[in-house]
Amino acid sequence: MKRTSIHDFDLSLICDYFGRLERQGPGSPESTIRALSFIGDIPDEAKIADLGCGTGGQTTILAQNTKATIIGLDICPDFIEKFNINFKRLGLENRVKGIVGSMDSLPFQNEELDIIWSEGAVASIGFEEALNYWKRFLKRGGYIAVTYESWFTDERPVEIEEFWLDAVPKMSTIEHNISLMRRAGYRFVAAFALPEECWTDTYFMPQKTIQGAFLEKHTGNKAAEAFVEYMRYEAALYSKYKHYYGYVFYIGKKCETPSL
Ligand code: SAM
Repeated sequence: MKRTSIHDFDLSLICDYFGRLERQGPGSPESTIRALSFIGDIPDEAKIADLGCGTGGQTTILAQNTKATIIGLDICPDFIEKFNINFKRLGLENRVKGIVGSMDSLPFQNEELDIIWSEGAVASIGFEEALNYWKRFLKRGGYIAVTYESWFTDERPVEIEEFWLDAVPKMSTIEHNISLMRRAGYRFVAAFALPEECWTDTYFMPQKTIQGAFLEKHTGNKAAEAFVEYMRYEAALYSKYKHYYGYVFYIGKKCETPSL
């Protein structure tokens, strides 16, 4: 029997489920800060785009650790509404703004951005495709910091390979992803795997607390039931196969000269 695929579910159902959570993907304040540390001093007048920002979990950390202007962009309007309410509440709406849009059609000028940030979202348009397309919006010497699903080993059990290659067809090893970053015209700065707690504590555990209310709202909706089952399966696979894969933060610097 064919297993359910993440691509079988409606975006609005996915947004309803994940909009109940503080973060929509694996990550943590510590990992965001660690990635920022590779970038060094960020001037107050810098402009950062946080692509696939969700409701802004990592954007809050960026805002608290820089004085930069930040534009969060996400395809899901509900997430952006929550994002803007959150930053208004924090009194940061003058320099942090969420907009609805797609990562593959950005509303920025060439060389407008100092930093492109993206946690847990790049796979939806492809890692290599994104690195190539986004580069034009970065100033020379600007930085990119992206988390991306990656294999830790050259080989893995069929069950986990099938699950992830369905969700992220071009998922590859860290070494290969670094080579893609270099080929796209970035100097490789750093890569590190997100620690296990980024999955268990900030991603899987909070989901357990919202699944009941989500199912109650969608009583009798087979797609909602199948979605919760899919998310539980993802969590079970992680605890079984976590040594084979994870999210990796890739940090790169746009080469200063176009030919490099
Ligand atoms: N960055 C957030 C975090 O780590 O909590 C959200 C990560 S979530 C796994 C992926 C996000 O990417 C979702 O908010 C989703 O709506 C957004 N997304 C997916 N495809 C997109 C696209 N083409 N353009 C913009 N956002 C997209």
